[in-house]
Amino acid sequence: MVSDKEFVKKFEQKVKNTIKKFNLISPKDKLVVAVSGGKDSTAALYLLKKFGYDVEAVTVDAVIGKYTKENRKNIEKYCKENDINLHIICFREVFGSSLCHIQSLLKQKGLNLRSCAVCGVLRRYLINKFVRKTNAAKVVTGHNASDEAQVYLMNLFKNKQEMNARLGPLPGLIRSKLFVPRIKPLYLVTEDEVERYSKIMNFPVKYGRCPCAFDAYRNYIRNFLNEYKEINPGVHLNIVKHFLKELPELRKKFETSKQVNVCKKCGEPAKEKTCRACQILSHLQ
Ligand code: SF4
Ligand SMILES: [Zn+2]
Repeated sequence: MVSDKEFVKKFEQKVKNTIKKFNLISPKDKLVVAVSGGKDSTAALYLLKKFGYDVEAVTVDAVIGKYTKENRKNIEKYCKENDINLHIICFREVFGSSLCHIQSLLKQKGLNLRSCAVCGVLRRYLINKFVRKTNAAKVVTGHNASDEAQVYLMNLFKNKQEMNARLGPLPGLIRSKLFVPRIKPLYLVTEDEVERYSKIMNFPVKYGRCPCAFDAYRNYIRNFLNEYKEINPGVHLNIVKHFLKELPELRKKFETSKQVNVCKKCGEPAKEKTCRACQILSHLQ
């Protein structure tokens, strides 16, 4: 095993190379890092600041009990100590309810959606809306190679190649000024590498999983890859590299010239007449 010093140097170089290879950032870009208080987004925030980019951070507090309370406290402390402007958006202030309450209301109406499905839609909605107003060029997320490999396989096994066409270091199929482009600078480092880096750097983060992150299918793929990693340590990265080779074809096949709709309720981008967030929220009334 390489020494911590050597590991840190290589890790940082890999992230720098990823930004360059996929042309993720222009020197004058203003960036907003979507942070959760976890290791991945904290590492992305730390590195982009270290590389000299103009960064701010935004966090969405979904109010998931002790879990988000601790994460929020950690990221607030981190940003304060590192002189980073942090914007906090809270479910309770915007929607009047926590994620768990929203979900139980949906359940009462017969809508059995996974927590991450509800949370993911509402978070992306809030972040895109907020960042567009700041005139930032890009939203940065902390997705790493292991996340990408898992999602790629999940879509592949369900033959949902259109969903895979939306992945990549610069995800999304539709380019519209209503969507702030997202970028993933940790795209070519694995979860294990991010964890080691985060521990060496002593980031104030918690390493457990979100208590609402129950997704049997995702867990199955995650465990399967982690088990297989024992005999093939490069499996996550190999899947991502294979995927990158087929991505241009997938994009060509599924890219749409269709104009994105504007949600008739809130004015945010939408696939249908109303956006997914408004569709979810309409069940709460
Ligand atoms: S793991 Fe799922 S429920 Fe938990 S914060 Fe992330 S998206 Fe929300
Ligand atoms: Zn809407």
